[in-house]
Amino acid sequence: MEMLSITLPDGSVREVAPGTTPADIAAAIGPGLAKAAIAARVDGELRDITRPLDQDASLALVTSRDEKDALELARHDFAHVLAEAVQNLFPGTQITFGPSTDDGFYYDFAPTFDHGPFTEEELPAIEAEMRAIIARNEPLIREVWSRADLIARWQAQGETFKAQWAAELPEGEELTVYKAGQGADAWLDMCRGPHLASTGKLDPNAFKLTRVSGAYWRGDQNNAQLSRIYGTGWLNKKQLDEHLVRLEEAAKRDHRRIGQEMDLFHLQSEAQGSVFWHPKGFILWRQLEAYMRRRLDAAGYAEVKTPQLMDARQWEQSGHWGKYRENMFVVPDEIPSTEEDGPIFTGTADLMALKPMNCPAHVLIFRQGIKSYRDLPIRMAEFGCCHRNEPHGALHGIMRVRQFTQDDAHIFVRADQLIEEVQAFCDLLDSVYKDLGFDKYAIKLALRPDKRFGSEEMWDWSEQSLRDAVKATGRDTEEFGWEELPGEGAFYAPKLEFHLTDAIGRTWQVGTIQTDTVLPERLDASYVGDDGERHRPIMLHRAILGTFERFIGILIEHHAGRFPLWLAPVQAVVATIVSDADDYAEQVAAELRKVGLRVETDLRNEKINYKVREHSLAKVPNLLVVGKREADEGTVALRQLGSDRQQVLTLAAVVEQLQRDALPPDLAVEAEAEAQA
Ligand SMILES: [Zn+2]
Ligand SMILES: [Zn+2]
Repeated sequence: MEMLSITLPDGSVREVAPGTTPADIAAAIGPGLAKAAIAARVDGELRDITRPLDQDASLALVTSRDEKDALELARHDFAHVLAEAVQNLFPGTQITFGPSTDDGFYYDFAPTFDHGPFTEEELPAIEAEMRAIIARNEPLIREVWSRADLIARWQAQGETFKAQWAAELPEGEELTVYKAGQGADAWLDMCRGPHLASTGKLDPNAFKLTRVSGAYWRGDQNNAQLSRIYGTGWLNKKQLDEHLVRLEEAAKRDHRRIGQEMDLFHLQSEAQGSVFWHPKGFILWRQLEAYMRRRLDAAGYAEVKTPQLMDARQWEQSGHWGKYRENMFVVPDEIPSTEEDGPIFTGTADLMALKPMNCPAHVLIFRQGIKSYRDLPIRMAEFGCCHRNEPHGALHGIMRVRQFTQDDAHIFVRADQLIEEVQAFCDLLDSVYKDLGFDKYAIKLALRPDKRFGSEEMWDWSEQSLRDAVKATGRDTEEFGWEELPGEGAFYAPKLEFHLTDAIGRTWQVGTIQTDTVLPERLDASYVGDDGERHRPIMLHRAILGTFERFIGILIEHHAGRFPLWLAPVQAVVATIVSDADDYAEQVAAELRKVGLRVETDLRNEKINYKVREHSLAKVPNLLVVGKREADEGTVALRQLGSDRQQVLTLAAVVEQLQRDALPPDLAVEAEAEAQA
């Protein structure tokens, strides 16, 4: 018999008979590993631990310490167990799809007509049935079936969705099923796998069904409506409990809820995905924008403003019309007559489109006039308002919207300037995140995808440049979660991604920088080199916040509405104890306003304790209490949010203190430097 050569991670090679499974090899190595191994990576591909090896390969055994793989496997298994449980409890329910998600899994069902969509009240019974299936420790067995057999089996079972899907799977694709249990009444799903060896490998206390929702067969509103059940799934109860606490905390911090409570913004169906900023919310926006503008000015960027509407032909040339058309809002270039049935006046363009991004317009500015190699780098910034036509279902508060403003900039550089510019960008971004209250973020390098433009040399060079730039900043370390992500780059270039960690441990991808040689080529941007010849600049697309809308959403949730003083919509409230102090309260407020502070007065005829409680619930950072005595003595009693202490200060002292505390972080640094000089 021909033996297979299986190479282990330590480089050792084992000769095994064909049909040997990774589980066999684990057992041969030792009982500890046999128990711990839950799956295998065969030539890098994640596979069932019981799937026989059929050719020479490299093999790495996966244990629960390989958390990412282990979670993925467990969540996929939970989805199967959920489907099996639902079919046990509700015979006649059809199964469709059930993938894993970021924190668990879901499964889409077609309930019987009599039953209708599943309800949250049914979830505990389904959870109990899932635990019974886990307790039975049913083996999960992979089998390869012929298409005809599979379709016949699904039709016989009345599974019309699965039968349809089996018929549509591409020719030549191996059709695999997983059976839970043994014998004739084993439960069956069609699936690529991989799975754990048996349902008993799941921790019965590590999952929870969380909610139900509607869904459509294959995500299309024209198709049959399905009933989706969501769950969260983990490796053990501790992980689940921690996650549930995080969810609870996240719900308390939900930016939509805080946005309403603090009167920051609202959304309504007449303007799907576009935000109505209220005065208090727009203070946040203006503070953030002014801060970013100061930082960009200091870093050598020049700010521009470019058109909302451009001729469709321009978008054709930039390539967006071909690749991005369905995300763009397109408007006819015409003016209807005011007379009824009058003529329509047509402009020179047939169609115009609202910009989905600012890049082409920035190249058009770059192209005005001749640029020399000495002019580079050119750093062109725009707080660019863009529109993208996202499906309504994908919209989420102010985090995912259709109209948004990016803190966008494009840096046009020569090849020899690339690393230095990327490095400078990384330093700027680091300082901005720290100023905005985020101490922790991760940097990832997204590498070439399968479908891509450009030569291999270009990719080698630009990937290495980004890598070198991060290395030069000393942030290619574990502390910065440094990681390379194969296949995740844009089709035209690799990119660096920056992921913030918020106060409750969630991560948000916000910043990015990517190299681009394609757009300068398509839009014919060039500069004159020191050799007198025309050269293409490299274009760096970069953003630090991403968009103002989403970033403000993140800020709200990160701070739970208790903003640092410089961002707080209302920085102080002057509250009176007695009406005798009304005039004095107005005088205190006027003094504070004089130095630029945002102040309100509360002269209502209410008990002071009531006022204190109310303003503290409204997250007002400073409450200045004044009564008869304060008025006579020219003092105020200062209470700060989160502290029980009350400090009595002279009016002049409180003005000075609050003015200093309210300085934005960049100006505070400047003020300190000045004071020391
Ligand atoms: Zn599966
Ligand atoms: Zn861009």
